[in-house]
Amino acid sequence: MTAYDPDNIFAKILRGEIPSTRVYEDDETLAFMDIMPRADGHLLVIPKTPCRNLLDASPQQLTAVIGTAQKLAKAVVTAFDADGVTVQQFNEAAGGQEVFHLHFHILPRHDGVAVRAPGTMGDFELIAEHAEKIKAALA
Ligand code: AMP
Repeated sequence: MTAYDPDNIFAKILRGEIPSTRVYEDDETLAFMDIMPRADGHLLVIPKTPCRNLLDASPQQLTAVIGTAQKLAKAVVTAFDADGVTVQQFNEAAGGQEVFHLHFHILPRHDGVAVRAPGTMGDFELIAEHAEKIKAALA
């Protein structure tokens, strides 16, 4: 498998080199809003240490990330009064992965509402509002 690229966009977010709308972090993980949200409240959970995806992650990285994913899944249900949550995770280009730092997508879902098509940039102010709702649900 290709080596981890320390200049991938999520590594730059972790180093604070490019902006992100952060909603949660602990020693091992970070959660921030997806800039092309496929549902209101769509966020990403990543480990703070490098790995490309599920295929090279350590058990410790996976344990930390899935623990934070569960915390954020519960928070989005509260924040958006959601009926369910979709968790997505892609591995390598053939598996649909575009950014090669392990991440889990968390999407709040409502009965009968489809996810939006991928690839459309979200409204920055709306994403910031949604982030505040999630942070309030975590508090
Ligand atoms: P994938 O690797 O297929 O899981 O997709 C990467 C995800 O990262 C997509 O949902 C993008 O919208 C999202 N994304 C890409 N760049 C950024 C960024 N700078 N901040 C937040 N999300 C991003």
